Amino acid sequence: MTESTKILLEESELPTHWYNIIPDLPAPPPPVLHPGTLEPVGPGDLAPLFPMDLILQEVSQDSYIEIPEEIRDIYRLWRPTPLYRARRLEKDLDTPARLYYKYEGGSPAGSHKPNTAVAQAYYNAKAGVRKLTTETGAGQWGSALALACGMFGLECEVWQVAASYDQKPYRGSMMRTWGATVHSSPSETTNAGRSILADDPDSPGSLGIAISEAVEVAATNEDVNYSLGSVLNHVLLHQTVIGQEAVAQLDKGGERTPDVVIGCTGGGSNFSGLSFPFIREKLAGNSDPTIRAVEPAACPSITKGEYRYDFGDAIGMTPLMKMHTLGHTFVPDPIHAGGLRYHGMAPLVSHLCDLGIMEAEAIGQTECFEAALRFARSEGIIPAPEPTHAIAGAIREADRCRESGEEKVILIALCGHGHFDMGAYDSFLAGELSDYEYPSEAVSAALEKVPVVA
Ligand SMILES: *Cc1c(COP(=O)(O)O)cnc(C)c1O
Repeated sequence: MTESTKILLEESELPTHWYNIIPDLPAPPPPVLHPGTLEPVGPGDLAPLFPMDLILQEVSQDSYIEIPEEIRDIYRLWRPTPLYRARRLEKDLDTPARLYYKYEGGSPAGSHKPNTAVAQAYYNAKAGVRKLTTETGAGQWGSALALACGMFGLECEVWQVAASYDQKPYRGSMMRTWGATVHSSPSETTNAGRSILADDPDSPGSLGIAISEAVEVAATNEDVNYSLGSVLNHVLLHQTVIGQEAVAQLDKGGERTPDVVIGCTGGGSNFSGLSFPFIREKLAGNSDPTIRAVEPAACPSITKGEYRYDFGDAIGMTPLMKMHTLGHTFVPDPIHAGGLRYHGMAPLVSHLCDLGIMEAEAIGQTECFEAALRFARSEGIIPAPEPTHAIAGAIREADRCRESGEEKVILIALCGHGHFDMGAYDSFLAGELSDYEYPSEAVSAALEKVPVVA
């Protein structure tokens, strides 16, 4: 086993392809349906929003898709990213487990999001699109897309969930620095936003509402496309550079396989990016790691939601996707892990749960911030509120190893830093954070508004 703290790859070892898990699955994922006809959507249905290259990636049956050199050139600004052995945290936890974390916070935007933003901007620019619209929760996705659009000469217009827009003003500053336009959502700039504000002038917003606004502008303008930072197959695909690097790094560090892979899930992209290449090995019978998603107790789409068809947005404009959902009308409590406040889960992640290939647990935010402090005070890095869920899940696992004496290898997705989230840390340090468990009754009530698909 390596003595190193960081296991690094050369730029020449940057993955040349994205890994597509779909052909390796024991059963194909359920189709995406047209909301009117309830028939599977075709490429033409998606063309008003996405360029054809991305639509083809969404439904591709190829196991590997080559990463264009223009994208790899930009990836090289921060990739390959380091894999750390968390020796100081292990000592602090007094655990026989070996903990590793794959750190995506060194990207210009501070998270894993640029891995797909750069790819999406590239294919849209290639298709002659003038502007991309999008939503953002905590602001990481908006930042990543603003960065990527700037690099390919595209305009970028972002609707940021109002609660986060007010809590984290510097994310907006970052987006504007890279040349984007930013609105607080719900906004007066769209029909969707105006209709929500008419009902609730003080609406804190939600990712679902912001998606409705961004989709509306893209759908009604010929040269404007929409871009989504998570959930869709092609987004998860782009993130697999993370896990492919991690496979090579663990190998370089002398570890045969992780025993547990843990990531936080909002829409599922960073988790999928790290875990899919390990699931590939699991499905091939080469190893049998536990693959575990950790979600907030306040937004427990996998653990408390139902696996059924639902809309991706709040208004009900998008195609229907089969996924774990709390109901598209879900308006979450404004917890600090803004990036995890989405009503649904990626269809591919939902499908993997349904097939029993992975599992999930929900953890409350105070336990997550306690884990974050332990991590920051041992490893140094201040994590974003989202991956504190993965850290808390890993600490639970490491504590169990202390009890049992097992020397498990635990791999953590540390998908971003928390430098824009210090207000959340201040609240926690001041003892002001409380736990909130999303009630099952609220799930049932919201699911009554979800269309029934036979
Ligand atoms: C966006 C984001 C998330 C949530 O999105 P996923 O698609 O589930 O990864 C989690 N962590 C960070 C740092 C993010 O920026």
